[in-house]
Amino acid sequence: MKKITLLITLISSFVFAQDPTITGFVEETSLDNLTTYVRELSGEDPTTIYGENVTIEHRVSNYNNNLSADYIKEKLEDTGLTVTVQNYSNSGRNIYATQLGTVNPDDIFIVSAHYDSVSYYCADDNASGVAGVLEAARILADQCFENTIIYALWDEEEIGLKGSEHFSDYFFSQNKNIVGVLNIDMMGYDGDNDKVFDIDINNNAVSGQIKDDLISLVDTYNLDITPLVVNPGTYASDHASFWANDYAAVLLGESWENDDITPGYHSSQDRISLFNMPYFHEMGKLITAYLATKGILCEEDNSGGDGDGNGDGDGDGDGDGDGNGDGDGDGDNVSVGELEDVKTIFYPNPTRDSFAMDFKTEKDREISVFSITGKVVLNFKSNQKHLEINLENLASGNYIIQIKTTDGKKLKLYNIIKN
Ligand SMILES: [Zn+2]
Repeated sequence: MKKITLLITLISSFVFAQDPTITGFVEETSLDNLTTYVRELSGEDPTTIYGENVTIEHRVSNYNNNLSADYIKEKLEDTGLTVTVQNYSNSGRNIYATQLGTVNPDDIFIVSAHYDSVSYYCADDNASGVAGVLEAARILADQCFENTIIYALWDEEEIGLKGSEHFSDYFFSQNKNIVGVLNIDMMGYDGDNDKVFDIDINNNAVSGQIKDDLISLVDTYNLDITPLVVNPGTYASDHASFWANDYAAVLLGESWENDDITPGYHSSQDRISLFNMPYFHEMGKLITAYLATKGILCEEDNSGGDGDGNGDGDGDGDGDGDGNGDGDGDGDNVSVGELEDVKTIFYPNPTRDSFAMDFKTEKDREISVFSITGKVVLNFKSNQKHLEINLENLASGNYIIQIKTTDGKKLKLYNIIKN
């Protein structure tokens, strides 16, 4: 395949003014943390997952990579954000955390990386990208942003972009406004130490703006790396799942274009010992800078809450369930807020039999399931931290699940398809 390459200089392009808050986030991006994530995810070091001492021997999806998924889930939960486990098949599991924007919650930026692998270790492909996403989430989760940010880790990239394809298609079917996807795949290797990284774009999708922003941010925050734009870019990673739905997306990573990729590629030779650490660190900083810039920091009081209750959970009713409430009166479309203490949502969607979620607290809640015509088909109260809704006896079709505080002031809605 012939590729047209442009080495971009910054003479005429727009450059962001440096924001001291964002400079702080860039400086907070820790090489120690990035390294620890990679070492633990690639099995170099043992780790602790939900209190158990374990070693992640591999992340190969065909041989069950649930341990790595659990590791990611716990790390995202530690940030305080709402985490969604998207079981899209018997073998596939995406994990993502949602930080809901305060001004434009429907404008969604996604930063993503696949966590599955083809072999043992696979530090560069793609524990490196996962580390970048987790580190950005750790730093930014407490902040207030105007736009929504989703930190997503995909499964089964290596066997055909399956996880990202499911997510992209599902969000597309829900008319979700994904305004930009920054997908990272392999960002730890720079063998010739020329500091060049690739940005793969596609003129068919609206990915040029993301590329321009990344190039500007390298300059604004004095990052010691050099962008190389690849257009048309490769389709061989998860950003292509978003191009398929005409979402703006780019691939960010070490330079395939210059044949400067890890010599351990797709083998158990792909280990962290081959990383170029300063390069890996700068790439991590760029991810943090991009999200903090495009998320748009709220104008005042950016010390932030604890991030709780920002969850979106991708089954949101998006208004089409709002008319289905049980009529407890006084303009509740205006006063009803987002349920705050959702911890994790587990659901295959479509599902055959159940929907489950965890809350952070034990509290009385009312659970209702509505058919698409607004009829209540299930209704009960529960104060358990772990909630399971049995859908076995319902007919196939679309349902809306409503979880509500008993005073009716806070609720969440989930669209779900029952097979
Ligand atoms: Zn990869």
